[in-house]
Amino acid sequence: MRNKNEFGIREFLKDYPGMSLVPSRGSSLVLEGVFSFSGMPKNKLSITDSYQIRITVPEKFPRAIPTVVETVRKIPLDGEHHVNNSDGSLCLGSPLRLLQKIYENPSLVGFSENCLVPYLYGASHKLQTGEDFPFGELRHGDKGIIDDYLVLFGLKTADQMKQALLLLGIKERIANKKTCPCGCGQRLGKCSFRQKLNRYRKLASRSWFRDHQAKLGAGK
Ligand SMILES: [Zn+2]
Repeated sequence: MRNKNEFGIREFLKDYPGMSLVPSRGSSLVLEGVFSFSGMPKNKLSITDSYQIRITVPEKFPRAIPTVVETVRKIPLDGEHHVNNSDGSLCLGSPLRLLQKIYENPSLVGFSENCLVPYLYGASHKLQTGEDFPFGELRHGDKGIIDDYLVLFGLKTADQMKQALLLLGIKERIANKKTCPCGCGQRLGKCSFRQKLNRYRKLASRSWFRDHQAKLGAGK
């Protein structure tokens, strides 16, 4: 039996009254409807807009990221609006950055305000002005994710970054005996980079990091 206010659904439905809970198979939670928002970031255009969307919240939320699909294709699938060609899901940001934001405010309202609205604001901004997404823009797909992780981890090369993700996929005790990815030449356990990695350990499971590492750079 699920908790009736799981993930703060009640607050979410109050803040976004066009959305409603729809029956779903499996253990994910599905919310569908019209998502209306207003955004007025500092020194940016004030935008009020709405999108028809479906949010699928995985059972492991907040240690897994909801998937959002815009169901009527107001946002074009042209490779320039951060929509995944494969399943039509919106690219809200790099997975680790999203997990970090969700961790800091682990509710559906937190996810909406910190991950979804900034993306939709960017999409509306682009649709209305023709200008690019106004926030520190990542390249679409794996390249953008790798760029973002180099910044998050403070590493220089994609190989170092992959090594860091590999270490997040194994037990801390064992990872500490491996060579540190930062290039210091020491074991991870002897380098302060360990603390940086440990901040990410709490965001998702080891198997999440293993899957993510395996998929990253595998195709796109
Ligand atoms: Zn190091």
